[in-house]
Amino acid sequence: MFLFRTVKFRSSSFLTTYKMCSHFSFSKNKTFINGKWVSAKDGKEFPVYNPADGSIVANVPDCTVSELNEAIEGSYDAFKTWKNTTAKERSAILRRLFDLQMKYKDDLARILTLEAGKSLAESVGEISYGASFFEWFSEEARRIYGDIVPSPVKSRQMFFYKQPVGVAGIITPWNFPNAMITRKVGAALAAGCTCVIKPAEDTPLSALAIAQLAEEAKVPPGVINVVTSSRNNTPAIGKGMCEHLKVATISFTGSTAVGKLLLEHSAPFVKRVSLELGGNAPFIVFNSANVSKAVAGAMASKFRNSGQTCVCTNRILVQEDVYDEFCKELTKVMQNQLVVGNGMDSNVTVGPLINENAVKKVNSHVEDALQKGAKLILGGKPHSTGKTFFEPTLLTDIKQNMLICKEETFGPVAGVMKFKSEEEAIEIANSTRSGLAGYFYSEDVSQIWRVAQALEVGMDLIKLNSRIYLNPKGFHVTLR
Ligand code: ADP
Repeated sequence: MFLFRTVKFRSSSFLTTYKMCSHFSFSKNKTFINGKWVSAKDGKEFPVYNPADGSIVANVPDCTVSELNEAIEGSYDAFKTWKNTTAKERSAILRRLFDLQMKYKDDLARILTLEAGKSLAESVGEISYGASFFEWFSEEARRIYGDIVPSPVKSRQMFFYKQPVGVAGIITPWNFPNAMITRKVGAALAAGCTCVIKPAEDTPLSALAIAQLAEEAKVPPGVINVVTSSRNNTPAIGKGMCEHLKVATISFTGSTAVGKLLLEHSAPFVKRVSLELGGNAPFIVFNSANVSKAVAGAMASKFRNSGQTCVCTNRILVQEDVYDEFCKELTKVMQNQLVVGNGMDSNVTVGPLINENAVKKVNSHVEDALQKGAKLILGGKPHSTGKTFFEPTLLTDIKQNMLICKEETFGPVAGVMKFKSEEEAIEIANSTRSGLAGYFYSEDVSQIWRVAQALEVGMDLIKLNSRIYLNPKGFHVTLR
């Protein structure tokens, strides 16, 4: 995120289920702007559905640009004092947010499962992961150092220090409704910025829960604001954030299409924009790989959050000598480990997809692959549990011309493709513009370093021993 400008200085409503979430109350159907719980001015609300059964979990304000502007003004005013707090003060507040999030971990996880559908175990994992950003930034807040640079001119000294840029406009997705917010808010607050959060319309409750924690942690009014809005009002809010002169930076995680739109809206204002967009992660298994470990890795990276994470494996490429063995073992493990159902049930590993449109998209990818010659091994259609569920599916013999290879499927569908040579695998893996993440399995050390450097992705995961190396390209290579 662009949170600093470098300054060059010369010395010169909740239903029955909700009652389980005891610490948090959304029954007042309000959002959090400038330190107050408020309704939309026109009184409009929109429902938040439980994707597992379609029931309404709560109603929240359907804000418009009017509430957005109020939040931005409040945030801008708060910035004037927040930016002058000491790093130590900001660190203490972030630490309190971390402590509170961990204290109410189970309540927060239940809210998350209720609105996003993911299994409770995964939700608990996300809350800890989300809290870790508050923890990390509470520590980093105190390490915002500058630079002293040797001046080329005798009569001058040059040093650089960092100043917060101002209000950060934060737009987050539904697949990590807690962690995507804490990651951005933690950084913003540590830097001395304030923020206005527009959470995804499917999952605003986790954002409101974070706002409640902010109030309890004594984050000053206006430093954290949440503007909830329905899908209908969202485009105007997004545009309003990008065009508002008091928003200094935009941080967005979501689809590539919306990311491009926000960049377009921001361009005339030359606004700082940070985007984390779609992925199409390759998962490569070479002949030398330990197949059981590769299968375990494929399970974890493919089926996490029912396949709905941006770093989820999208294309599995397996070298010809181990192809049959890999497909056979993956089939067995999928049959044994994947349990479809309501994420609230403790044995469930594959919850619902976020909504019915997601099921339609996944189904269209499977149909397209089958029409173009893929082989169906498991699943292949919507699941009988309900309209938002899809059967864990395994397709083999997938080809590059299929949608499943070209777009993010975002569902519990594993597509496997056979390849002959390392060069071919790298060419296929890199034949996408969405290089968010990539994975490969090999036990050949030379190959590991070769492939790590050749893959054009932001995050690499290589399984080997138990160490973390910094890849020469600058991204982390995790060797376990
Ligand atoms: P997905 O298709 O996975 O829902 P989106 O990119 O549509 O991904 O959603 C990510 C976030 O972007 C959500 O908070 C959503 O409300 C928001 N969003 C969607 N459309 C727009 C838009 N036109 N302007 C600003 N934000 C948007």
